[in-house]
Amino acid sequence: MTEYRNPSPELRARVALEKHGFRNTHSLGQNFLLDAGLLDHLLDLAGVGPEDNVLEIGPGAGVMTALLSERCRRVLAVEVDRGLEPVLNDVLAGLENARVAYRDVMKADVAALTAEAFGNEPWRVVANLPYYITADILLRLVTAARAPESIAIMVQREAAERVMSHPGQKQWCALAATAQSYGRARVLADVPPEAFDPPPHVQSQFIIIEKHPEPVVTPRDPQVYLRVINTAFAMRRKTLANNLKAAFGLDNDAARAVLGAAGVDERVRGEALTLQELCRVADGLEAYRREQGTGNREQE
Ligand code: SAM
Repeated sequence: MTEYRNPSPELRARVALEKHGFRNTHSLGQNFLLDAGLLDHLLDLAGVGPEDNVLEIGPGAGVMTALLSERCRRVLAVEVDRGLEPVLNDVLAGLENARVAYRDVMKADVAALTAEAFGNEPWRVVANLPYYITADILLRLVTAARAPESIAIMVQREAAERVMSHPGQKQWCALAATAQSYGRARVLADVPPEAFDPPPHVQSQFIIIEKHPEPVVTPRDPQVYLRVINTAFAMRRKTLANNLKAAFGLDNDAARAVLGAAGVDERVRGEALTLQELCRVADGLEAYRREQGTGNREQE
């Protein structure tokens, strides 16, 4: 006789959710993906394998976490809702390479958590995230000192369109410029509302942003570059020169000199600039401030 010992993660999750009487919290974006077939497909598309350490944000009932644990080297999941702890304990029981940290990822020290979990090894992000934190968490991940190798996440279709946008398009924004400075973004799959439990009122896309093998921009000071990106999109009806003046405390001549040195027309609006042009502006600004000796006296 064969004893049936190992129900699938999907079944374990469904049983655990029922057993612990779990109720989804709308404000935490708890639209779960429980279908292991779909999740396996998404993980195939994300291309994670046995060598990979994976940070998952928002494991929910843990089906994807369990599947990641089967495929990958180590999984660290960060979940804000302690109410999911009994569910995750059941679903992840016996999976030695999977660990859950109960934290708000927006307040957590992700660098410390990943260093503790993965040491100096590279890591990737795979997540079906709550949509209310998409932009904030993406910005934090792509600008981190030790950024992940790739970020495969579920996002609302409009967010995917913004992240994939290019200069000249109306969606081109600080998020897109920052994300594309880090890596190449592409859509892996359309995921319909019915795939989620409960279904969200929006269309979703599973996207990946893969870190550029060689940087596409190499600003002298990455912090100034990020500030220039934010400044460029700060007030879209103003010229870049005016936005730079306001953000960096420059006078007319200085703004003109910085843009001139960067080879950028002084009447241009920030949203028209490519990453390389934004980088030249940041370098010009950095050089100007160094000349003036104002590099350390920021005008925030
Ligand atoms: N990944 C699971 C799945 O696919 O079924 C759950 C996805 S659900 C869209 C988002 C998950 O993120 C929920 O478990 C929610 O509690 C968690 N979450 C929401 N805000 C969070 C935050 N600030 N930090 C960590 N987890 C969060």
